[in-house]
Amino acid sequence: MSHPDVLVVGGGIGGLGVAFSLTRQGQTVRLLESAPAFGEVGAGIQLAPNCTRILDDYGLLDEAKSLGVVPDAMVMRDAVDGSELTRLDLRHLEQRYGYPYLVIHRSDLHGLLLRACERAGVELVNDAKVTSYENTEDGARVTLSSGETQQAGVVIAADGLHSVARKLFVDDQPVSSAYVAYRGTVPAEQPRVRSVDLSEVVVYIGPRCHFVHYGLRGGEMLNQVAVFESPKALAGQDDWGTPDELDAAFAGTCDFVRDGLPFMWRDKWWRMFDRDPVMTWVHGRIALLGDSAHPPLQYIAQGAVMAIEDGWVLGEHVARHRAGDGAVDWTAALAAYEAVRPEHCRRVLTTSRKWGELWHLDGLAREQRNVLLRARDTYDYSFTDWLYGPTALTPDQEPEMFTPVPLDSAQPVPAGGVA
Ligand code: FAD
Repeated sequence: MSHPDVLVVGGGIGGLGVAFSLTRQGQTVRLLESAPAFGEVGAGIQLAPNCTRILDDYGLLDEAKSLGVVPDAMVMRDAVDGSELTRLDLRHLEQRYGYPYLVIHRSDLHGLLLRACERAGVELVNDAKVTSYENTEDGARVTLSSGETQQAGVVIAADGLHSVARKLFVDDQPVSSAYVAYRGTVPAEQPRVRSVDLSEVVVYIGPRCHFVHYGLRGGEMLNQVAVFESPKALAGQDDWGTPDELDAAFAGTCDFVRDGLPFMWRDKWWRMFDRDPVMTWVHGRIALLGDSAHPPLQYIAQGAVMAIEDGWVLGEHVARHRAGDGAVDWTAALAAYEAVRPEHCRRVLTTSRKWGELWHLDGLAREQRNVLLRARDTYDYSFTDWLYGPTALTPDQEPEMFTPVPLDSAQPVPAGGVA
C-alpha cells in the first residue's frame, strides 16, 4: 500500500473536517476509523458563526443550512420559574459576525462532511483501530490492532476524549464533572412541539440542572437535552446518571421543563467529562486535533466547532508552507498550528467550566445571577466577540475573508426596536 501524505486517525466531526481541509490543500489523506461504519450518535448540535464561516469557506454552508435550522434568537430562562433572563438576537448576531448561528442534526453534519471527503478523494477506512503512534525519520507511523502498520508524512490524531495519541503528550485522565446529559427528540405532530417557538434556541438554567431545546430539520422535530448533577456520582457510586436520578433532578423545575422529560431517551445517557487544558499538541510529526486535544464541557457549545476550526487552521498553514513543487514544510505548518490554537481552546475549556457553575447556582447566588442576567443588554457582545470572531483562527493577522463586519454597521438597535 502506498503512503499517503497524511494519516488522520478518527472519523468524527474533527477527523472528517481536517481530512477535507488538507485534501483541499492538495494533500493525499487516508482516514482510519475504528468503528465498522461511519456515523454519529446523539441529536442536535449548535454551530456558532466561528464555525459557519468555515463551512462557508468550504462551500458547505448552503447545504448545512438546508439540512438544519437558522434560529432567530437564543433565550436563557430560569428553570424554576420559567421566566426569561437574557437573550441573543441571532439575526443581529449574524450581521455582526458575518455568518449565521445554525442548529443541525449531528448525523446531518457528519454526513455532510463525510460526503465532502468522499468527493474530495479522501481514502476512508473502517475497522482500523490505532493502538500506538511513533515518529519516524521522515514522518510518523501508527500500528493497528491487527498488527498492521501504516505511515505518512504526518499523522493527525482526532481520536476523541479517550485518545490513545494524547498519552504521548501527557499522562492525564478525563475529568468527571458528575453531570450527565439525556437527549431526545420530539416529533412535530406532538402538541409539545406546537407549544414552542421553533425559531428559538432555549436553555432553562436551574439548581444543578439545565434543559435545552431547539428545532431540527427545518422544524420537523424538537431536540431536547436535559443535564443534571448526579448525587450517585458525587457519592462515588459506579451506576450514576440513571433515569431515576433524571426525574429527581428536575422535580423542582417549572411545568414546561418537567413535561419534556418523558420524551428523553431513557436507555442511554452521556456522562460529562472534560480534560485539563494542554498547550503542547505537536510531537514531531504527530498532532492532536479536536477532543483528543481539548475535550470541553458542552456549556458554550464549542467542542465540535473547535475541532472544525483546528482543521481549517492547519489547512491554512499547510497552504502557507507549501513550496512551488507541492512539498509541505510540515515542521513550520505544525508549529504555526500549535502557535494559534491551544491558547484559544484553553480559554474555551476553562470558560465552559465556569459557565456551567453559573448556570447551576442555587439559593441567593441564583437570585443574584438572575438580576445580573436580566440587566444585560441584548446587544452587548462583550461575552461573544472573543469566541465568535475570527481571533481563534489567526490571532496574529486577519485575512480578508475574516474581516468582521465593521462595528459601526452593527450597532445595537435602539432599545425596544427588536422584539
Ligand atoms: P469524536 O466525536 O469523539 O470522534 C472521535 C472518532 O475517533 C470516533 O469516530 C471514534 O470511533 C474514533 N476513534 C477513537 N479511537 C480510535 C482509534 N484508536 N483508532 C481509530 N479511530 C478511533 N459541540 C459543539 O460544537 N456544539 C454543540 O452544540 C455541542 N453540544 C454537545 C452536547 C453534548 C451533550 C455533548 C456530550 C457534546 C457536545 N458538543 C458540542 C461537543 C462535540 O460533540 C464534541 O466536541 C465533538 O463531537 C468532538 O469531535 P471529535 O471528532 O474531536 O471527537
